[in-house]
Amino acid sequence: MMYEIAVIPGDGIGPTVVDAALPVIKDAGDAHGVELDVTTYDWRTERYLDRGAMMPEDATDQLADFDAILLGAVGHEEVPDHVTLRGLLLPIRKTFNQYVCKRPTTLFEGVRSPLRGYRGGDIDFVVYRENTEGEYADVGGREHHGYDNEVAVQSAVFTREGVERIVRRAFEAARDRSGSLTSVTKSNAQAYGMVLWDDVVDEVSEEYPDVAVERLLVDAASMDFVRRPDEFDVVVASNLFGDILTDLGAAVSGSMGLAPSANLNPDGPYPSLFEPVHGSAPDIAGREIANPLATVLSGAMLFEDLGEDAAAADLRTAVQDQLASSAAPRTPDLGGDAATAEVTADLRERI
Ligand code: ATP
Repeated sequence: MMYEIAVIPGDGIGPTVVDAALPVIKDAGDAHGVELDVTTYDWRTERYLDRGAMMPEDATDQLADFDAILLGAVGHEEVPDHVTLRGLLLPIRKTFNQYVCKRPTTLFEGVRSPLRGYRGGDIDFVVYRENTEGEYADVGGREHHGYDNEVAVQSAVFTREGVERIVRRAFEAARDRSGSLTSVTKSNAQAYGMVLWDDVVDEVSEEYPDVAVERLLVDAASMDFVRRPDEFDVVVASNLFGDILTDLGAAVSGSMGLAPSANLNPDGPYPSLFEPVHGSAPDIAGREIANPLATVLSGAMLFEDLGEDAAAADLRTAVQDQLASSAAPRTPDLGGDAATAEVTADLRERI
C-alpha cells in the first residue's frame, strides 16, 4: 500500500526532528509493505520573513489530497507566535476540520518523572483537545492602538456542534479504554460557553452509561495532573485548556521530547496532521540534540490513523525498548548526552 504524505519540517528543531524521524517511520512502513511517498514543503517563518507569508495562499488546496501531513514545529524568535501560528498551523487545523487533537501522555519504563514515586506505566492517559474553535477562534479586535483608551476584545466561541463532536469522540475513547472520562472546564467563571460545554457532556453521557464522568475546573485539574496523574484515563478539554494541560502532562511524564499528537479529521475527506506536542525549542535549535521520539511517536499515530496498525506497533515497540534500555542513547532532555541522530540510528537497528 502506498500513501501520499505531506511533510512540513517548519522552524527551530522542527527540521532536526523531522529529518531524523522520517527514515525511522519509513523503515517501519517498509517492514509491513507500507510505502510513504513524501512531498516536503518549506513553509516556515524564514518564508514569512522573505515573502510576507508562512505559506502560499493556496496551501490548503495543495495539501487537501494528501493522505496525511507530518509537521515539525512552528515558531521563531523574530516573529510573534500569534503571527506564525495563525499563518500556518491554525488555518490547516480549521480548514481541514481537524476537530480532535489527540494527545497521549505516557510515562515510559526507563524514563524518570519529575514527580516522586511514579514508575513506567503508572501515568497513561490521553487528552482529547477541541481543536477548531473555543478560545482559539479568530474573533475579536483591537482599537485605539497605543492610546490610553486602547481596547482589545477576544471572544471564545463554543458551538453545540463543536463541543458535541469532541465530547462524543472522548466518550468513545473512554469506552475503549478503562471507562472513565474527565471533562475540564472553568464554568464557574465562564458562564456561557463552558456551561454549554457542561450541558453537552451531561447530555452525551446519557448515551454512555458505562462511562464514569468526572468534572473538574481547570485549576483543580492542573493540581491533579501533578498530585494524581495516575488516576486519569481520558480527559476532554477546550482548545486552550487542552493545550496547557498537555504541556503539563508531557512534563510530568519526563520530557516535552516524548509527547506526540494527532490533529484528526475523523469524518474525512481531509487529511489529518501529526506533530510533536513541543514547539520550535529555540533554546536548543541548531544543536542537533533535540529528542526525536515525540515525532517518531507522532508517526505511529499517523500509521494508526491510516489503518496500518502493525507499522504503528513497530514504532512504539522500538521506542519503548530503547527507553527501557539503560545502555541505549538518550538526548540531554532525558539525562543523556546523545545527539538526535544517534537516537534514531539506534531505533532503525531495532526496527
Ligand atoms: P515555541 O515558542 O515554538 O512553542 P517554546 O520554547 O516556547 O517554543 P517548546 O518548544 O515546547 O516551547 O519548548 C519548551 C522546553 O522544552 C524548552 O526548554 C525546550 O528545549 C524543551 N523541548 C521541547 N522539545 C524538545 C525536544 N524535542 N527535545 C528536547 N527538549 C525539548
